[in-house]
Amino acid sequence: MIEIKHYGKLIRNKEDLSDETIRTVQKGVIKNKQGRWQCIQCESPERADYYTYYSEPLHSEITYCRHCLQLGRMDTHNEVYIIDSHREISKADYHLDFQLSEQQTYASENVIRAIQTHEKLLLYAVTGAGKTEMMFAGIQYARQQGYNVAVISPRVDVVVEISARIAEAFSAENIDVLYQSQSQQYNGHFVVATVHQLYRFKHHFDVIFIDEVDAFPLSMDPLLMKTINSASVSTASHIYMTATPSRKLRSQFKPANIITLPARYHRRSLPVPTYRYLKFKPTKLQHQLLRLFQQQITNQRYTLVFFNHIEAMKAAFEIYAEHIPNLIYVHSEDALRFDKVTALREGRHPIVFTTTILERGFTMPHLDVIVLESQTYSTAALVQIAGRVGRKMQDTSGLVLYLHNGVSISMLCAKAQIKQMNTIGLQKGWLDA
Ligand SMILES: [Zn+2]
Repeated sequence: MIEIKHYGKLIRNKEDLSDETIRTVQKGVIKNKQGRWQCIQCESPERADYYTYYSEPLHSEITYCRHCLQLGRMDTHNEVYIIDSHREISKADYHLDFQLSEQQTYASENVIRAIQTHEKLLLYAVTGAGKTEMMFAGIQYARQQGYNVAVISPRVDVVVEISARIAEAFSAENIDVLYQSQSQQYNGHFVVATVHQLYRFKHHFDVIFIDEVDAFPLSMDPLLMKTINSASVSTASHIYMTATPSRKLRSQFKPANIITLPARYHRRSLPVPTYRYLKFKPTKLQHQLLRLFQQQITNQRYTLVFFNHIEAMKAAFEIYAEHIPNLIYVHSEDALRFDKVTALREGRHPIVFTTTILERGFTMPHLDVIVLESQTYSTAALVQIAGRVGRKMQDTSGLVLYLHNGVSISMLCAKAQIKQMNTIGLQKGWLDA
């Protein structure tokens, strides 16, 4: 058993403590001033999240929170402890194998400024800009002041990937990586975690980086903000990073604190989408589509084909698998998805049918994307999908094809956004013409 300190945390067992100071003791679920149930851990405002039953042994009614049950039960009977936070300075030396781009340096300086002035910052960075490295100087500055730092994302796969890169760069730091069953090993001064893991911390973090915030379901927005605020000290700096900020998110920042980062690390412009009319019929062999796939194979390109319904994708797979060698499909509920993605990266499947599971994160050289029924997608999804293409230094261009039966506003916006970023990148001198 590793002994750790529970600084700035909500804990249920006093026995877990050594010399930490308890700040408050209270029940896990309380009635707030408005007379509503409130869970101390997740603060869910939803009445349906609270369940009340009569306990025979205790001869009383007990209410518990169902929303955060997997992180430990909060109820009206048992006491929980909120522990005082604590700061500890570290050197936070980091190592990079490459030089930051001019744009990354500009972003890093803004991150440090936001931390110094305790402000909120939005890094509006195109896919492939190298967001992760933009945090490094800020993390170092913060840790050298003794600030507690968290890097969070709504997505487990992002946490896994980003934590590996951070740990590699900051190899001498004690970094807590928290997701699913991964638990704390150090004292929580430098944490990389899923958003849900933040429920465990109260008034603790001085700096929180929020990656891919728009990957979070919109309905969770208010709770997400609450969670971030509860885990933070009142003077904390929050740095949001995304390629597709919603208007609502953007409206929460002063214009000077929205930092637009239009250039990819390799200084080549973003591939601009093209439109083509095709009324997709999942249960019918469409020769136009088949020819398109065959052409892609002839051109020695890897192609992700996006479907907006699993059923339509499976139906189309049955038809096209007879004609396309090594055709596969992958979706979010696919038990073999990790193996399939690995096979894909190894180049074993020239054509891949997919749902939005590969909308973010995934990339490889010589990759093109085709979106079926693109008129049904949101602007953010279309921009993210286009963002898979041309990321690698050895192959900076590629095909982004939106197949549609009627161009939508979202399609127009996606294309306009991509072109606008290219224009800004050129103006700033961060792109090579
Ligand atoms: Zn709860």
